Amino acid sequence: MNDGRLDLAILGGTFDPVHAGHLQIARVVSDLLSAKVCCVPSNIPPHKSSTMATPEQRVAMLRLAVSEHPELYVDDLELKRGDRSFTLETLQIFRRRVGPSPRLYFILGMDAYLNLPSWLGWQQLLDYVHLVVCRRETDQVSAPPLLALETSHQVETAGMLKSKAHGGLFFVDNTALPVSSTEIRKRIKNKDDPSAFLDPGVYAYILQEQLYAAS
Ligand code: ATP
Repeated sequence: MNDGRLDLAILGGTFDPVHAGHLQIARVVSDLLSAKVCCVPSNIPPHKSSTMATPEQRVAMLRLAVSEHPELYVDDLELKRGDRSFTLETLQIFRRRVGPSPRLYFILGMDAYLNLPSWLGWQQLLDYVHLVVCRRETDQVSAPPLLALETSHQVETAGMLKSKAHGGLFFVDNTALPVSSTEIRKRIKNKDDPSAFLDPGVYAYILQEQLYAAS
């Protein structure tokens, strides 16, 4: 069904587990840019030594979380590739799929953005997508390579991203919820109620699969 959301935004992550913060940024960006949001769980994240749930469990949780949101969907291409996940490769695949003209966006939380210079081929990302960064609580500020990127690519309004297929950098304010997967895993381990930050179906799945209790 075509609901008028013609552009495509990609949200990569470990989703171990998917939580309200992920859904919040996905939905805000979807509304802001009239875009569908494709959630892409990473296989073996280059920046994280291990995940607690299996890839199948992470995908299952993501599918449950997006099931009530027609503007969101899941693509497990990185898991199927079965290698380490490099975002640049994934974005190249999406670009090949849609062709050169359609707009593509990649959504990042502020913490991931600040880490960007450690990603393989990070300076090429903008050859394929626009970067949409959702501010998240942090004391850190952009390192010099990112300041240079901001000088050359940052745009002041979301609308300014619409004039090109890729190459813009936009910061979205006030989107982030103060929650992380780490915090959720910690709460479950400590028997604190995490339900305020989880989709009910995802929480039921976590309990059923006894995830994170012994982490
Ligand atoms: P962990 O605590 O295990 O590091 P996480 O909560 O940061 O996980 P990821 O799956 O690693 O979740 O995040 C995927 C993407 O979503 C990243 O770009 C991250 O910055 C962003 N993100 C996650 N949680 C939030 C949040 N609460 N607000 C804004 N962005 C978020």
